Amino acid sequence: MKICLKGGQVFVNNHISRQDILIDNDRISQIAPQINGSEAQIVPLNPQQVIAPGFIDVHVHLREPGFTQKETIKTGTLAAAHGGYTTVAAMPNVKPVPDTPSKLQAMVQLNQREAQVHVLQYASITKERTSEQLVDFAGMKAAGAFGFSNDGSGVQSANTMYQAMQAAHQVNLPLMAHIEDESLMNQGVMNAGATAQRLGLPGILPVAETAQLARDLELAAATGVHYHACHVSTANSVALIRFAKQRHLHVSAEVAPHHLLLDESMITKDNPQLKMNPPLRTLSDRQALLAGLLDGTIDMIATDHAPHTVADKAGSMKTAAFGITGLETSFPLLYTHLVQPGICSLAQLIQWLSVKPAQVFNLTQAGQLASGLPADLTILNVQDETTITAQHMYSQGLNSPFIGAPVTATIQATMVGGQWVYRKEQA
Ligand SMILES: [Zn+2]
Repeated sequence: MKICLKGGQVFVNNHISRQDILIDNDRISQIAPQINGSEAQIVPLNPQQVIAPGFIDVHVHLREPGFTQKETIKTGTLAAAHGGYTTVAAMPNVKPVPDTPSKLQAMVQLNQREAQVHVLQYASITKERTSEQLVDFAGMKAAGAFGFSNDGSGVQSANTMYQAMQAAHQVNLPLMAHIEDESLMNQGVMNAGATAQRLGLPGILPVAETAQLARDLELAAATGVHYHACHVSTANSVALIRFAKQRHLHVSAEVAPHHLLLDESMITKDNPQLKMNPPLRTLSDRQALLAGLLDGTIDMIATDHAPHTVADKAGSMKTAAFGITGLETSFPLLYTHLVQPGICSLAQLIQWLSVKPAQVFNLTQAGQLASGLPADLTILNVQDETTITAQHMYSQGLNSPFIGAPVTATIQATMVGGQWVYRKEQA
């Protein structure tokens, strides 16, 4: 079946211009200013609708198996489609942890059965993400691992990390680091500093992140591994990564939308919806993260989509779970707060959400729109003033501080392999 998306704007080679797109079955067959499309089903678009390569989120939590009360692969990937994502990479902090080739293979099969978008699967770095025992790196690669991560916990032993990096480098897969020295965590629930003191809440020291990051970057230099820093949150982390890139280390980094848009000064009361790990830092950290993104030190935006049940997020920050959802709110919020005020262009935002993750992780079939490539795309409406509401969420997790936030852009539709996986109903 042929579909012709006609009359919109299209992101091609990092530029946005008036183009039509013809889709033949699962692939893009033509991009041109005027396609007649007489044998195709015509989908009329208008100029405020921009077709972008489907977004890629290299850091999501789908919670299945083991925590299906929080999210399932089905609901998590429906949420991804609603957010404009056509590829997501799933962290391995599920139950059972995919820490053997056979468990990983079962996860990959489950993803294939249930997912509405492409799911890449991480293997854990160590058995149960806790012990010092490394997984079988070559076996994991053979079973379909996209990379290795203990996300949710930092690797506490430098020697374990050193050996893991050597092993990941040997099989030519990236190592995605949750950077956290537990001995500096202080059982904290928010950033250590003036706000935590005022609210009487225990604080997480910024050096819990930077001390381990500095260690990891030295280990990455020594091993040559592709080291990816997850959810970077402090100004000093940005500086460390900038220095590592100057040394030409194989290092990449991501920042989460909430660390770009929120800081600890916005925590005015004990509010579990603002509890995430790493925590919201200071205004100057937030500004440094944005500067790092703009100058290329930070390569991409990843949501760290972390759904929880209402009960998990109830009560005080002292006891509530860490994390917020992100897949369905990232584009509308980032467009509203970065593109609309002129901090960056729409083309730059699309690069951070799609082009860069594809390049950094060698996803040659994603991250661009071109004839012959899979029809994985998202249609953005950049003139759609609305409010983020819980009833429009596909995720089971409604733990977002952005519910109720006004936005000026939305996802109109998302397509994976020529099939619509999300279409906004017309008002
Ligand atoms: Zn995470």
